[in-house]
Amino acid sequence: MTATVIDGKAFAAKVRGQVAEHVARLKEEHGITPGLAVVLVGEDPASQVYVRSKGKMTVECGMNSYEHKLPIDVSQEELYALLAKLNADPAVHGILCQFPVPAHLSETDIVAQIDPAKDVDGLHVINAGLLASGQKTLVSCTPLGCLMLLRDHLGSLSGKSAVIVGRSNLVGKPVAQLLLQDSCTVTIAHSRTKDLADVVRGADIVVAAVGRPEMVTGDWIKPGATVIDVGINRIDAPEKGLKEDGSVKTRLVGDCDYASCAEVAGAITPVPGGVGPMTIACLLANTVTACCRANGLAEPE
Ligand code: NDP
Repeated sequence: MTATVIDGKAFAAKVRGQVAEHVARLKEEHGITPGLAVVLVGEDPASQVYVRSKGKMTVECGMNSYEHKLPIDVSQEELYALLAKLNADPAVHGILCQFPVPAHLSETDIVAQIDPAKDVDGLHVINAGLLASGQKTLVSCTPLGCLMLLRDHLGSLSGKSAVIVGRSNLVGKPVAQLLLQDSCTVTIAHSRTKDLADVVRGADIVVAAVGRPEMVTGDWIKPGATVIDVGINRIDAPEKGLKEDGSVKTRLVGDCDYASCAEVAGAITPVPGGVGPMTIACLLANTVTACCRANGLAEPE
């Protein structure tokens, strides 16, 4: 069997198109433009790329993008004062602090400073708690992207057995909550799980969010299962030759060994081009949702 490739890039483009339509309606019918504020501390090159690309797509969807770049040694007080200002600003509907941050700052404490109604990353404990208790919330972007891809590919998820490998607050736990809400039978596996391959082999749906390059191999996958690979890992690719500075070129791989999993699975997300593009699309969708809620207007479906 050769798996169907779940094209996250194309699906994300469709979601961004829907976001842009909703934004246009908000402007035309209500004179409101959703706004997303992104805070970047320091000059981490990967974070700079993410922030640029978030800003570009925000503007492409017709929304306002507010970028706040702070020096690497910014004090906690200065950062919190900025977040308080953004919380109070009615033009800002979504706030996101790009992680990782320098070691003198705490990610958990930063998220706690953000108004839960503007927490478009869905990381605030209030939003995580609302999700866990099945209430309306802002769902963190990567898990929401996984759910959208699964629903689009499989239709109803009810009764399917799902194994999530990884239990982080960012990915594993919220994915598990979302699949449970869609009536999957959910198992959360982690580094202490015994006989992990056997556990994964029982799943109709596998979500790999481990951060270990190509760990899940085809012999772990039940024939016909749907595999969502959240992992983004950069590994050496000596076959691509050397960079100008003499170091080995690299490539991105997921947490699943794509070639062997694709032989057994019914469908699989590639890396890159699977879950990754959905994360930004869901961030934009969450910003529109937050804007509609702030203004008492109907939310996007
Ligand atoms: P974390 O490091 O926070 O969590 C990893 C999880 O994997 C932990 O629960 C850990 O278990 C588990 N784990 C580690 N090793 C093993 C193992 N050998 N067997 C079983 N479980 C194991 O990572 P994140 O959840 O933040 O990210 C996971 C991956 O997803 C990364 O590759 C990251 O880059 C990617 N990612 C991609 C995004 C996207 O937009 N596509 C967004 C966010 C993340 P334990 O708890 O026991 O330590």
